[in-house]
Amino acid sequence: MTAIALYARAQPGHAERVHQAVSRLRRAVERHPGSIVQASSLGAEDMVLTDLIARHRLPIAVATLDTGRLHAETLALLPRIHAHYGIELEVHRPDADAVIGFVRREGADAMFRSVALRHACCGLRKLQPLARLLEGRTAWITGLRREQSAGRAEVPFEDVDDADTLRVKFNPLADWSWADIWHHIATHEVPYNPLHDAFMPSIGCAPCTRAIAVGEPFRAGRWWWEQGGSSECGLHLRPESQEETDHDKAPA
Ligand code: SF4
Repeated sequence: MTAIALYARAQPGHAERVHQAVSRLRRAVERHPGSIVQASSLGAEDMVLTDLIARHRLPIAVATLDTGRLHAETLALLPRIHAHYGIELEVHRPDADAVIGFVRREGADAMFRSVALRHACCGLRKLQPLARLLEGRTAWITGLRREQSAGRAEVPFEDVDDADTLRVKFNPLADWSWADIWHHIATHEVPYNPLHDAFMPSIGCAPCTRAIAVGEPFRAGRWWWEQGGSSECGLHLRPESQEETDHDKAPA
């Protein structure tokens, strides 16, 4: 059964939530002309955002991270997005020498050996390329939603995520439900990752993502072997929780 068949539902207030999300995107562009970017994970929420950006011709760059460990299905979305919307995504990759050195030292699957090594891998493959993606930009847009996890239950529509640069993070879909996301995808024939049809609501790197079982939380398939972990890689941690993460991710 497809994700659309499983999840897409027209819930009360959906049209208003779409309207509000587009209004938030428009206001974000007005405040950050030429320096705003959607940092897309290529997951379902981000595909909805890219669809809204393209559909309303909003001058917002769309960028993603290719960690070098993504599923083939995820990478295949890049040409599909281009064919569907005519958008060429910016793709930011890790520093090749740093990755080669890390893999030589710790092995290709070091993330399973300790939380510190997992954070080191995420640091190299995600956080550093994200920093380059955001360089020179005053605002970014993400697909974070409150429903995704307990840790995201209070995600605001707008947040200052970097106290030094005062860079703003917009989360226009914060109040959308999973049913809203899939209703939009179904209604507008938005391209999406077929791994969502294989019970992977949250998709990251291939070694660190598994399908979830009925009743498990959305993000239970991310870093599932880390019992009691936060199911976060650091991309979306708030400044006050960053101290702990920076400490945790110091290479062993
Ligand atoms: S999600 Fe896994 S493979 Fe990807 S960067 Fe993090 S630890 Fe490395």
